[in-house]
Amino acid sequence: MTARILVVDDIHANVKLLETRLLAEYYDVVAALSGQEALEICHSSNVDIVLLDVMMPEMDGFEVCRRLKADPKTTNIPVVMVTALDRPEDRVRGLEAGADDFLTKPVNDLQLLSRVKSLARLKNLSDELFLRAATAREADIEGLLLSRTEDIKTRAKLLIVDENEAAASRLRDLLSRDNEVDIVTEPSAALISVVEGDYDCVIVATGFTTYDPLRLCSQMRAIERTRLLPIILIAEHDEASLVARGLDLGVNDYLMRPLDRNELLARVRTQVKRKRYNDLLRKSLSQTIEMAVTDSLTGLHNRRYLDSHMSMLFTRSISRERPLSVLMTDMDHFKLINDTHGHDAGDDVLRDFAGRLHRNIRGIDLACRYGGEEFVVVLPDTDAQMAAVVAERIRETVASTPFLIHNGTASVDVTISVGLACLQPRNDSVEKLFKRADIALYKAKKNGRNRVVGAVA
Ligand SMILES: [Mg+2]
Repeated sequence: MTARILVVDDIHANVKLLETRLLAEYYDVVAALSGQEALEICHSSNVDIVLLDVMMPEMDGFEVCRRLKADPKTTNIPVVMVTALDRPEDRVRGLEAGADDFLTKPVNDLQLLSRVKSLARLKNLSDELFLRAATAREADIEGLLLSRTEDIKTRAKLLIVDENEAAASRLRDLLSRDNEVDIVTEPSAALISVVEGDYDCVIVATGFTTYDPLRLCSQMRAIERTRLLPIILIAEHDEASLVARGLDLGVNDYLMRPLDRNELLARVRTQVKRKRYNDLLRKSLSQTIEMAVTDSLTGLHNRRYLDSHMSMLFTRSISRERPLSVLMTDMDHFKLINDTHGHDAGDDVLRDFAGRLHRNIRGIDLACRYGGEEFVVVLPDTDAQMAAVVAERIRETVASTPFLIHNGTASVDVTISVGLACLQPRNDSVEKLFKRADIALYKAKKNGRNRVVGAVA
C-alpha cells in the first residue's frame, strides 16, 4: 500500500535522511522545514501520515500536532512524533497533543517502516469509512456511523500471550488503566483463547522456552475469525531478525524491551483503532446493502428489491411447475387521510398497515412497498384459491380495526383494495403478471373499493 508522507524537520539533512528511506519503499514523500509550512501542506493537499520533528524554532512539533488534531479537516491524519531518545517527557507531551505514534532519533529502519505501514493502513481505513459516510448521507446512515464511532473510544479487550507469568502481570499493570486485559501463559491454549475471546488486540511475547511465538502469529493469520485481529510482538532488544520475520507474517507492530509505558499505550491504541474501523466498515457495508433494498418508512422491502428478486421467483415457479400469486394492494382514499390528518398520520397508517400485512403472510412470501400507498405481496407455491383467502384475510384485518394516529390519541378507519393475479403455465412474463394484477386492482377500485378482485387469466 502506498501513502503520501509529509516529513517535517527544521534541519534539511534530517528531512533528506527520512525521505531517502521512504522513497526506497516507494512512498510518496513531501517535505516541510517548518511547522507553518507543514500545516499549509496538510490543508491544501492530501497527506496520509505526518512524521513530525519535536524541536523546531517558532512553532514546535507539539503545537503543530495540536493544531492538526483540533481541525476536523486534518484530525484523521496520523501524526508520528520524532523525539530525541533521551527525552521521555516528550512522549507524554506528544500524547497530550494527540500524537498517534513515536519514533526516536536516530530513526531505525525497521521501526520507521513498520510504523509507517501500520499507520498507512489505518489512514486508508478511516478514509474509506468517512467516504462511505459521506456517500451514504442521503440514505441517513451518516448519523448511525457517527454514533458507532463512539464504540471506538470504549475500553479495549486485550490478550497477553507470555510464558513468563511475572512479566505478563507487569505488562497487564501497564495496560489495565485503559483496557481489559487477559493473560494466557500456555502456548497450546493461546490459539483457542484468541479464537474464542472477542479481543481487540493480541500481544505476543517472544520469550518462550520451547515454543516459537511466530507459529501462533501465522496460525492467527490463517484462520478467518482472527485474520484481521491486530498482533503486537514484544521482543528482546537483540531480536531484530525475529521481528522482521514476524512483520512478514502479518504481525502489525512490535515493541522492544525495556518497554516504555507511553509507547506501549500509543501502539496498542493505534491497533485497536484500526481493528474498530475495520469492524465498523464491515458493519456499515452490510447496513448499506440492507438500506438499499429496504423501505425506510415501513421496513418492508422496496421496489428495487422486488424488481431484482421477482424474476428469480418467477423462473423458479415455472421450472418447478409450481403456482405463484401476486397481490397488488392499494389504500382507499389515502390522499384524504393525508389531507385531513396530516402527513405524519399518513405515515402512521402506512407503518401500521405494513405490520398487519407482515403478520398475515408467511416467511417465504415477499411483501414490498411498491410506492406511495401501494404494496405488493408475492406468494410462492400459492394458487388462486389460496391467494384469495390470504388477500381476504389482509383486507379484513385492515377494515375491522381502526388505525391509531397522532401517537395513539386519535384513530382513522382505513380500507384497501386488492388485485390478485396468478402465474399462467404458458406464455407468461413478470410484466404480464403484474399487468393483470394491476387491472384487477383497478376493477376492485371501480366496483366500490374495500374488496378483493381476481384477475381474468
Ligand atoms: Mg529539530
